[in-house]
Amino acid sequence: MSQPMTAAAERTSVITCPHCGATRREQMPTDACQFFYECSACGTLLRPRAGDCCVFCSYGSIPCPPKQSARDTSSSEGE
Ligand SMILES: [Zn+2]
Repeated sequence: MSQPMTAAAERTSVITCPHCGATRREQMPTDACQFFYECSACGTLLRPRAGDCCVFCSYGSIPCPPKQSARDTSSSEGE
C-alpha cells in the first residue's frame, strides 16, 4: 500500500476520444508506444496525429513515457 510519490514518468494517461468525447484512464507501456487505441464508448479506432508517436501523445492527458523523458533531457545531440 506504499505508493512511491516519485516524480518519475507518469504511467497513466486519460485518453479523450475526439469523436464522442469519452474519457478513459489507460495504463501506458513504459517501453513502447501504442499506435492504435479503440474507444470503448463508440468503438472508433484512434490513430496518432501526424508528428505524434502514439495515441497518448495525441489524445492523452499525458504524453507517453519515452516522450516524457525526451522532453526532460532537452536536445543534446550534435555538438
Ligand atoms: Zn469515442
